Amino acid sequence: MTASTIWPPRTDAAQLEDLVLTVTRSGDDRKLRSVHAPYSDEEIGSVPDCTGEDVELAISRARNAQEEWAARDVSERATILTRYHDMVLSRQDELLDVMQLESGKARRDALEEVLDVANNARHYATRAEGYLADEKRKGGFPVLTKARQHRHPVGVVGVISPWNYPLTLAVSDAIPALLAGNSVVLKPAEETPFTALLAVKLLREAGVPPNVFQVVTGSGKELGPPLIDNVDFVQFTGSTKTGRRVAKRAGKNLVPSSLELGGKNPMVVFDDADLKWAVDGAIRGCFTNAGQLCLSFERLYAQSGIYEQFRDELVNRTRSLHLAASYDHDPEVGSLMGKQQLARVRTHVDDAVEKGAKLLTGGRHRPDLGPYFYEPTILEGVTDEMLVAHEETFGPVVTLRSFRSDEEAISLANDSEYGLNAAVWTGDTDRGHDVARKIECGTVNLNDPYTAAWGSVDAPMGGMKQSGLGRRHGDEGFLKYTQTQTVAEQRFHPIAPPRRVPMRLYAKGMSAILKLMRRIPGLR
Ligand code: ADP
Repeated sequence: MTASTIWPPRTDAAQLEDLVLTVTRSGDDRKLRSVHAPYSDEEIGSVPDCTGEDVELAISRARNAQEEWAARDVSERATILTRYHDMVLSRQDELLDVMQLESGKARRDALEEVLDVANNARHYATRAEGYLADEKRKGGFPVLTKARQHRHPVGVVGVISPWNYPLTLAVSDAIPALLAGNSVVLKPAEETPFTALLAVKLLREAGVPPNVFQVVTGSGKELGPPLIDNVDFVQFTGSTKTGRRVAKRAGKNLVPSSLELGGKNPMVVFDDADLKWAVDGAIRGCFTNAGQLCLSFERLYAQSGIYEQFRDELVNRTRSLHLAASYDHDPEVGSLMGKQQLARVRTHVDDAVEKGAKLLTGGRHRPDLGPYFYEPTILEGVTDEMLVAHEETFGPVVTLRSFRSDEEAISLANDSEYGLNAAVWTGDTDRGHDVARKIECGTVNLNDPYTAAWGSVDAPMGGMKQSGLGRRHGDEGFLKYTQTQTVAEQRFHPIAPPRRVPMRLYAKGMSAILKLMRRIPGLR
């Protein structure tokens, strides 16, 4: 692809420049930070290199705007987010173009992000009112005490997002925060600010007041600390290394955080699986977004009875994948994000091959397609001392090995410090559920790579072990942005010894009441 053809049909430099106006800044003399297109490595535009001062300004504006936003009826916020749902779908081509331009991903991978944001917007807009409704709770003593639970927004939510899913991870977590009555300050990844800026422009067009959702662009190292120090909740997606820093800083301030971090995800294929389906699933699970997906599989385990057939079909399908830098829906695999990602993938593959792993297919950089294209790669015979055995590659590279029993499959799947996502392929549903429960991952998909669990936004999603803290999606994905308050009303008599009743008698009476409450289910 040449310089003159990197631009997608609906985006040009002037449009990107226009998006910069949505960045919150304290002055107009800011330094700029340039953004590159992975398809050609050319500069496509620049965004303000915000400072800690900009972050503080954004948060103070967000704090001032939050009260009015929270005071609105929840149905009004739900109407705005439902309008956003419709806009994201009807203007998807604009979003797809910008996402592809600055991340180099295949269009079909960008489409998953659009669908995901709409899915989250619909889901939480429909449920927000129920989540925020006051709830009656059992009082400490029947009749005497009445208790009620209220939910308040936490205040200002800071979202820190990575480059691999620049729309979804910037916006889908912010949607429940907004619906709960919070304002949001977003710090998108350095590499992909324009997608976040376009998403925010659409949110504003849908009716979200400007100060209720603001963006600060710039370095994570510079802007992370002042953001974490001044918000009331931190939602972070990124590497385990940076996640630890974020959690430490948030912990120091007693600010809650939810972190979705790295993975080294396993996929297990049993003898009784539908092989064609499993091969298709492995292709999607390993090579979607060129493997730069926190849920993607880097370890494949196939049972000995079907191992060879599975391997050969997988290798054939992988070889026929269509790689290209293109703005239409046809290519199946896009580019890696950039120099650093390419170097990491090459290091992992070269190290494995040097130490004796067998390259079944791939293993080649493809500069003929674009500076950061790399072929989908399958390695066999990987041993523990190879980097690719345990470190997250975050690229189109997967290791393949066989196993004999269910127990061996479970033990191999759990042989990782991470625990984000897994898949189990079998024709026996009971076996699948049994194995899934024993795998130490926050999500496990049966006969599907990741869309089943990720797309079930009514169910929680997140990591066990070193893959994170907290959950997105489901009740937890909304309620984490609220704090509960209990208002309890005492009637007729306080829960305290009545005057003139000796303490010994009071102790006896209270003990008798508690015993009665244990015996009578209606009183518990
Ligand atoms: P990756 O390796 O995918 O770039 P990171 O975890 O470094 O992952 O980045 C994810 C997000 O975290 C980005 O928006 C990045 O700017 C931000 N970030 C980087 N360093 C810090 C930090 N010290 N504190 C807060 N956020 C950070």
